[in-house]
Amino acid sequence: MDDRAPSPVAPAPAQATAQPPARAAGKVYLVGAGPGSGAYLTLRAWELLAQAEVLIYDALVDRALLDRVPVACQCIEVGKRGGRPSTQQQAIDRLLVDHCQAGRLVVRLKGGDPFVFGRSASEIQALAAAGCPVEVVPGLSSALVAPLVAGIPLTDPVLSRCFAVASAHEPDALNWEALAQLETLVFLMGGRSLGVIAERLMRCGKRPDTPVAIVRSAGQPQQQIWIGNLASIAVQTAGIRLSPAVIVVGEVVHLHRYLAVAAPPMPLGPAAPLFQSSGDRPMEPLTGRTVLVTRAAGQAGSFVQQLTAVGARAIELPALEIGPPTSWEPLDRAIAAIETYDWLILTSANGVEALRDRLAIAGRDVRALATVKIAVVGQKTADALQQCGLRPDFIPTDFIADRLAAEFPEDPSDRRILFPRVETGGRDVLVRNLRDRGAIVDEVAAYESRCPAELAPAARQALEARQVDIVTFASSKTAHNFAHLLRAIDRGHNGSFDLLQGVCIASIGPQTSDACREAFGRVDLEAEEYTLDGLRRAIVTWVSQP
Ligand code: SAH
Repeated sequence: MDDRAPSPVAPAPAQATAQPPARAAGKVYLVGAGPGSGAYLTLRAWELLAQAEVLIYDALVDRALLDRVPVACQCIEVGKRGGRPSTQQQAIDRLLVDHCQAGRLVVRLKGGDPFVFGRSASEIQALAAAGCPVEVVPGLSSALVAPLVAGIPLTDPVLSRCFAVASAHEPDALNWEALAQLETLVFLMGGRSLGVIAERLMRCGKRPDTPVAIVRSAGQPQQQIWIGNLASIAVQTAGIRLSPAVIVVGEVVHLHRYLAVAAPPMPLGPAAPLFQSSGDRPMEPLTGRTVLVTRAAGQAGSFVQQLTAVGARAIELPALEIGPPTSWEPLDRAIAAIETYDWLILTSANGVEALRDRLAIAGRDVRALATVKIAVVGQKTADALQQCGLRPDFIPTDFIADRLAAEFPEDPSDRRILFPRVETGGRDVLVRNLRDRGAIVDEVAAYESRCPAELAPAARQALEARQVDIVTFASSKTAHNFAHLLRAIDRGHNGSFDLLQGVCIASIGPQTSDACREAFGRVDLEAEEYTLDGLRRAIVTWVSQP
């Protein structure tokens, strides 16, 4: 049995603890002190401190712990902080060996856990080589505690199935591409390289609106927390000394809004604000609001980014899926006879892409469209066309479909017009108008938009947890599809859904509002300008109302 092992009795007051008699051989305990205050010290560490003859501690260790060691204990600080030079690792190794060989019980106290970026291996090897007994006492790492004091869970059944802890001491040594694939990242020693961390992650594919939290001096009276996103955090904290700090990157950061209520209390000390949303600037208008954004799957999340930029927690709710039409035959037949058409009307990027793909399958390319004029509705459609190297011959004012017929640049009578479009739904005003004026319009199915099979788990979870404040609709179809998806989990009362009680239904414009009234029996907010930008502005105005 190890004769230096301290007795496992209940902790006694430090000063009253009897000194163990001197022994021939000493022993070194590599002890984790947890982060910050002694509140996170293990019972084993507590016992050992009371029996230490020599305490060799790092700068990050809470000074209050020094009161725990016997009066006769020799206390030696090593490790760098506050500009003072650090003791060379070899010198620390030597110190440990010397005190151990002098027959003393040595506690080597380190911040957090001794094996998390703790350089313990070198000390163990030096001690083992010198024949000194050594034992490791695990500690609570700041990597785990700091997120927790901010109310941020590192795992979540939906948002985070894994997390990684990395040292940002040498950013160039990290595999950023691999890190950017992971759901949750925790960086230690990253205070100085925050800008580099954000930039590398965005470059490797993490979205700029990925939330970020910085927890400085976790568990200490001066504890401070900043919340932002990859695009904003470096600006938010510019000029602030962020050390020691833990940086958390990932969607789980958003959960602090709900879980911070259960965060451990701040240790006593000078009052510090628990959260700073954006440095010293005021809170963003949608801070604390959760917005469900219904949209077609696979489309760019720019609206989500717009909402996140004003502080919202935006959850995407795919309410439309784009897929092939029931049959390609009508479009393929039209393509085979493309030279017989005078005009091609395109009103969606999906239509452009279908046409391009079917042309390729027929062994042709855009040169087949050389003799046909092209009319386009919608900025996205024009962009998609441009990507194929094509310029439209005609774009109606404001990109509005109903204007296309009214402003058509030539007399449409007897003109043969090909209109590749969505298979079902969509508005027929345009086609009716052109036909009324004598045009021969061939409407062919180029794609179909369907309702997804089920509600996205993150959206469902937020709805069921009653966390959603606002749900947004930018088209009639998404309103109907969302109602359909909701019906599977919420039968509701008197035609209205229980899960939407108290949730603001926000619509982009009059047509979508009509669909919302049909689907949900109400609409609470309509954008004045019928764009996503207008919708965002309307939401900000709505939440600012008393
Ligand atoms: N072994 C330690 C980590 C040592 S590396 C542990 O497990 O916690 C030192 C880094 O730890 C610091 O740069 C900082 O990123 C982090 N750290 C340690 N204590 C901290 C605290 N109280 N608050 C925030 N970060 C802390």
